Amino acid sequence: MKAMLLKEFGQPLSWEEVPEPKITGPRQVLVQAKANGLCATDLKIADGLVKSAKKPLLLGHESSGVVAEVGSEVESVRPGDRVVMVAKQTCGRCRMCRAGREEMCLSSPGRMGFEIDGGFGELVSISDRNLVKVGPGVSMEAASLIGGTLGSPLHAIRMARVELGETAVIFGLGGLGIHALQILRHLGANVIGVDVKEEKLEAARRLGALHTLNALREDPVKAVIDMTGGVGADVALEIVGGAAVPPVIQQCMDLLRPGGRLVILGYHYGQAVPIDPAKMVYRWIQIIASHNHSVRDVADAASLVNDGRVKAVISGTAPMREANEALGQLRAGDPVGRIVLQW
Ligand SMILES: [Zn+2]
Ligand SMILES: [Zn+2]
Repeated sequence: MKAMLLKEFGQPLSWEEVPEPKITGPRQVLVQAKANGLCATDLKIADGLVKSAKKPLLLGHESSGVVAEVGSEVESVRPGDRVVMVAKQTCGRCRMCRAGREEMCLSSPGRMGFEIDGGFGELVSISDRNLVKVGPGVSMEAASLIGGTLGSPLHAIRMARVELGETAVIFGLGGLGIHALQILRHLGANVIGVDVKEEKLEAARRLGALHTLNALREDPVKAVIDMTGGVGADVALEIVGGAAVPPVIQQCMDLLRPGGRLVILGYHYGQAVPIDPAKMVYRWIQIIASHNHSVRDVADAASLVNDGRVKAVISGTAPMREANEALGQLRAGDPVGRIVLQW
């Protein structure tokens, strides 16, 4: 099969003919990959920053496709079904899996596009437990965003137990942020979006942000405190990633109300954030950090997209063969929504 292969970290991917994956067990499924969302994690993996990543590797952890072949005991999907693939393979037997927290599986066989091959090859071999069907009106490009791009913020928002009427501030309205915004709106939260790019703030307003703030022009801490009558926000989400993470986490903590929840989704390796424990204690601040998502999160995200309650925001598409150019575009600046590679 054809594939965009990562042979060496820090080097461009190459267009290659590679062996087709096989169905390795009765509950295994072969999926014809159709679309792959690109995210900042792909850049970290390609650069060799993710130590568990194997090489050679087929990237692609935000993938959708069509079922091509099923193992003898598979009943949940049939050839021709359109599916989103949940990237992290889980054991189903460890303490966390049994507790219904399979996103934290203790003996995961690996994540697509990290430790095992992902959607940058034409075919993906995957467990039937990791497939969620999508509605007929959802394009394969939109479906590719249901896993990582929607499922991951949905998981974090669920951990933060956001309620109707609460005020949530999102720092970073890129791929994850613009989708987190829609989930929060759907839950009935008042969303304030913060970014440094006007086009992202405009997209946030279009998708239901109550207010937007350009952090280059005004101090988000002061603005949010003012907007909330001096009380502060209920929830603050840090989704900026990169060098801005430590100062943004600081701002998030400063703009929360007493008992507010800080949700950390963006990161870069090796960053340190100074925390004043007294300030945390006296203001009852809760910190929630999250990555990944469960099959339930993805199924719920799919239901939101299936009937149009949440829109998968795609900034552009490119054929898989142009993956290097698309990754370069992502590296140059996180666009509004996701870049999606198509097979
Ligand atoms: Zn991702
Ligand atoms: Zn497990």
